[in-house]
Amino acid sequence: MTFQIQAIDVGYLNLAGAANVFLIEGPDGFALIESGTATTWPELVSQLELRGVHPTQIMDLLLTHIHLDHAGAAGHFAAGDSRVWVHTFGVAHLIDPTKLIASSRRVHGEMYERFYGDLWPTPQSQALAVSDGQKISAAGLQFLAIETPGHARHHHAWLLEHAHERHVFVGDALGIAVPNSDFISIPTPPPEFDPLAWKHSLQRLRDDAPTHLWLTHGGLQSSNAPDALRFIDRVQERLQEECALLQKFSAAIIASGARESSAYEHALKNAIQEYKNWLHPKAITAGVSPQHVDQFLGDYFLRMNLQGALRHASARA
Ligand SMILES: [Zn+2]
Repeated sequence: MTFQIQAIDVGYLNLAGAANVFLIEGPDGFALIESGTATTWPELVSQLELRGVHPTQIMDLLLTHIHLDHAGAAGHFAAGDSRVWVHTFGVAHLIDPTKLIASSRRVHGEMYERFYGDLWPTPQSQALAVSDGQKISAAGLQFLAIETPGHARHHHAWLLEHAHERHVFVGDALGIAVPNSDFISIPTPPPEFDPLAWKHSLQRLRDDAPTHLWLTHGGLQSSNAPDALRFIDRVQERLQEECALLQKFSAAIIASGARESSAYEHALKNAIQEYKNWLHPKAITAGVSPQHVDQFLGDYFLRMNLQGALRHASARA
């Protein structure tokens, strides 16, 4: 049972290295992990065709979660008859994406039209619910779903085993590896970011003894077990420091006044500035180019992270 894995850069945010999908050729054909966004669909189609694959040959699309950089073109694949496998909590949103679109528009603001675009509905018969520990067959291979909440409540990593290799497609559970650097960025968007659940998910990934870690944002990060564990340790460190800071910021913002009051907005603005002052030098030290600092860790990203932390803090209050 051999297979081949290819990372395909879909050109998300018009940035090289910002997001991948993974094409897997097995004994029975092709499977794809992640779909890219609706706006990266044309690029993905041409990338697939360069590899001699037509989108309708993708019989199974496996999603890690339904954020639009991972699932935004799911409906495009479904229109070509692909089965779409997704966490139980995500199924309804693929069948009727109205709420997901509204929520993404809120989170991404003016960036939505440029970089995301509307998710097409997936017919009910093709939207298949997956739960923790379930094995699904695709391309003549077996993929195991590992529930890994934290970045999102409805998040799965997918494990593909072969001989001594354990390939894990981790979605966003191990953050974002910023291209050409040693920096791992931690995306904590609303509405489901949960620091404690995330920490447990890292342990879960360790327990699964991965060799190959495939990050949607960053591609292949290890090809043996010790490197994989080291990478997870680094994510853990980054997660811890990021969460501590975000918690401090959100407490201050919440204490400043009612939501949308001018005091609150002022506190939010200050927090973004402080966050930036803390994060950017760290990223630069880890080799992130000044241009990539702006593109990957700009105000838009920091604001999104803060909104996620605020949402989490106020849900618990
Ligand atoms: Zn995500």
